[in-house]
Amino acid sequence: MKRNLSCDVAVVGGGSAGIAAAIGAHDAGAKVLLLERNPYFGGQATHSQVHAYCGFCTNGDDWKQVVKGVGQRVLDKLHSMGRFDSFTYSPTGNLYVPQDPEYTKLALDELVEESGVDYLLCCQVVQADTEGGRIRRLTCADDAGLFTVEAEVYVDASGEANLSAMAGAPVEFHCDQSGCLVFRMGNVRHGMDYSPARIKAAVEQAIADGMTGFSATYGTVCRAQDTDDYTVNIISMQIPGLDAATQTKYEMEGRRQVHLYAEAFRRYLPGFENAYLIYSGPRMGYRESRRIAGEYQLCREDVKTSRKYPDTGIARGGWGAELHLGSEDVVFGEERGAKYFDIPLPCLRPKGMKNLWCGGRIISADLIAASSIRVMATGFATGQAAGVAAALSTGRGDYDTAAIRAELERQGALI
Ligand SMILES: Cc1cc2nc3c(=O)[nH]c(=O)nc-3n(C[C@H](O)[C@H](O)[C@H](O)COP(=O)(O)OP(=O)(O)OC[C@H]3O[C@@H](n4cnc5c(N)ncnc54)[C@H](O)[C@@H]3O)c2cc1C
Repeated sequence: MKRNLSCDVAVVGGGSAGIAAAIGAHDAGAKVLLLERNPYFGGQATHSQVHAYCGFCTNGDDWKQVVKGVGQRVLDKLHSMGRFDSFTYSPTGNLYVPQDPEYTKLALDELVEESGVDYLLCCQVVQADTEGGRIRRLTCADDAGLFTVEAEVYVDASGEANLSAMAGAPVEFHCDQSGCLVFRMGNVRHGMDYSPARIKAAVEQAIADGMTGFSATYGTVCRAQDTDDYTVNIISMQIPGLDAATQTKYEMEGRRQVHLYAEAFRRYLPGFENAYLIYSGPRMGYRESRRIAGEYQLCREDVKTSRKYPDTGIARGGWGAELHLGSEDVVFGEERGAKYFDIPLPCLRPKGMKNLWCGGRIISADLIAASSIRVMATGFATGQAAGVAAALSTGRGDYDTAAIRAELERQGALI
């Protein structure tokens, strides 16, 4: 039987941006369908073991919270499960929220179930039919076959700008920043020195002793809450494409390196002597791939000068530039500071498209700005804005920025 679903706003991708987009659009009055290809929500937080929500606050001693709205509802849900109390300092001295994928999956299930949004897991959007800059319908695939989704307005929160690319919107592909297959190790001793400098020394010792095939010496090791497990974020590979052949090659190479690093840590990183590998991924994490070419491109100067957009700002970025350029050490740009910058609405709008909004790490930004706005709390904020914009705009492309900003404020977002 032919399946044909319809709604006001269809959101593609159930990561940080997509969850917030769906709830934001629903709370603004739209009938929403959220489509996610994985069997759970969370995006890279749950599917690539990105173990901390960054960007809720500015950095520094006099930090302030800059993301609330749906992001705050995620924190409240984690708090109700005993998984979040307060912001903490990461090993690199930034404020973040450590998260454990298994609890985050459950928290997001509950949040989405309670929200009134319609949602489907295990369903991949594979095609978008577009006419005159207007998306008419999506084709989705699940294990039962193909079905279509028709909406008035669409949100791309796919992390890779997959919907934008399928719809013919202008997109750019970049891989300056490396991807990483994060892995988790158990039976690690606490209280030892797991600073980036100590990790680097361990890998350099492994190399000096003849072990080969590492992609980086800089990395972080973070304790998974209330366990003897640590997640390791060190593999560093610039992945040159999104086709299956390229992804296959890099997923396999990542897995080979997971075992290599695990062995090097056991040998050279005191505290890991008896540690064992629990799991990797499941999927390689991408720091960047496609981004849209938007009506405005957020730029280095916006981040560096903490620029404010009093009339068009729809989200705040509190995380400074953080560049992961291949095998080099991570660069915290001079743009990292205690202040925040505004993200203006035109960054969420691909040029030439009438009924498409974007949220998360695919919004229009240059390399420096992208290395800041990609963090997941900022993703909640831009996602919520994309959802509200979708709910309050028409399929013909008309929208009222002041009304979108007012609705975001009504929903408790900080703008
Ligand atoms: C190694 C690494 C470390 C990082 N460290 C941090 C950190 O410590 N803190 C932090 O805040 N951020 C960190 N980031 C950045 C952050 O993880 C991402 O930028 C963020 O997840 C982007 O959120 P998003 O919602 O835009 O996309 P994603 O989290 O990628 O979510 C996109 C979702 O869309 C779904 N999707 C895609 N295409 C389709 C389709 N066609 N049909 C249906 N569903 C689809 C995907 O399955 C996915 O669930 C890190 C990233 C990496 C790679």
